[in-house]
Amino acid sequence: MNRFEQIQHELREQPKKWLITGCAGFIGSNLLETLLKLDQDVVGLDNFATGHQHNLDEVKELVGAKRWSRFNFINGDIRDINACQQAVQGVDYVLHQAALGSVPRSLKDPITTNDVNINGFLNMLTASRDASVTSFVYAASSSTYGDHPGLPKVEDTIGKPLSPYAVTKYVNELYAEVFARCYGFKTIGLRYFNVFGKRQDPNGAYAAVIPKWIASMINNKEIFINGDGETSRDFCFIENTVQANLLAATTSADNKNEVYNVAVSDITTLNELVGSLKSTLKANGRLYEKDVIYRDFRDGDVRHSQADISKVAQRLGYVPAYRIQQGLEAAMPWYVEKNNKD
Ligand code: NAD
Repeated sequence: MNRFEQIQHELREQPKKWLITGCAGFIGSNLLETLLKLDQDVVGLDNFATGHQHNLDEVKELVGAKRWSRFNFINGDIRDINACQQAVQGVDYVLHQAALGSVPRSLKDPITTNDVNINGFLNMLTASRDASVTSFVYAASSSTYGDHPGLPKVEDTIGKPLSPYAVTKYVNELYAEVFARCYGFKTIGLRYFNVFGKRQDPNGAYAAVIPKWIASMINNKEIFINGDGETSRDFCFIENTVQANLLAATTSADNKNEVYNVAVSDITTLNELVGSLKSTLKANGRLYEKDVIYRDFRDGDVRHSQADISKVAQRLGYVPAYRIQQGLEAAMPWYVEKNNKD
């Protein structure tokens, strides 16, 4: 039995109480689904800034009424300390996902991004410390590597931030470290690298590349690539990300503060991604034959991103169960079905 299987077994035997902030969003709703399927008690906090009621409805349908009754949803804002204090009552583990994602959004509106991602984070951190939760796991970001050219990215070596969003995610790490040092509070940052999978929003100006392109392909619309298409990413399927969260929350390691890369350690260029999406869609009965349209590089984007995952593998027992192609194959039927309904 690997460590992930073992902790799932232990959690089933002895359920814990979890708080997921941002539970109506993409990553949060997938964490919610997994934890409820493991018969855990879960509190969710979300203000629907970018999350959706339909994500919660879908989880409800997938887990069934009995398990759903173990979920307590609070419609609230992490910028409101009272909402944070209410949400952490009696909680063992916090999985803090709520934030305003997207580099372009932060360039357009740095003040709101700062408010949610830094002030909201500090509220959650303080409320969690005061409630003496066992551990505080939070969504950090590969954007913290900024302009450092080294590949693959190793946790200790970062560059200068390239966007307001990246600043906020780095400040989260600094606060977490200081709370560990000053108050002995256990914090674990997971630097996600381009997560994808079901319930990732394909709509809106700030949609991520995979759901956006899948939706465009299904609807036979143009695909735009910012730059020459040789920009690369380490795309990480959502199930790997969920695994990392559960491993991080339940680790028995004594260290009070750690930051881990969460990815696969694969490199995929945007041109390669288009090819993979086309072939996976074809296997799902959808043909896309338009040529992609290249346009200017986008401000704030890093050119290449690939994670070294040896630290998270060694210390937390993380083994990514899905590489990009397996993840695309697992996620595609959901996107095709969704599109048929819309
Ligand atoms: P998402 O937008 O789908 O989810 C974020 C959730 O947080 C939404 O449900 C939103 O309504 C909620 N939220 C936003 N502001 C809030 C507030 N003030 N109070 C309460 N809830 C609020 O995004 P996601 O992709 O699921 O991202 C989750 C986390 O992971 C974020 O912290 C993001 O920065 C981080 N992250 C994501 C990726 C990725 O590839 N998706 C990569 C790196 C880091």
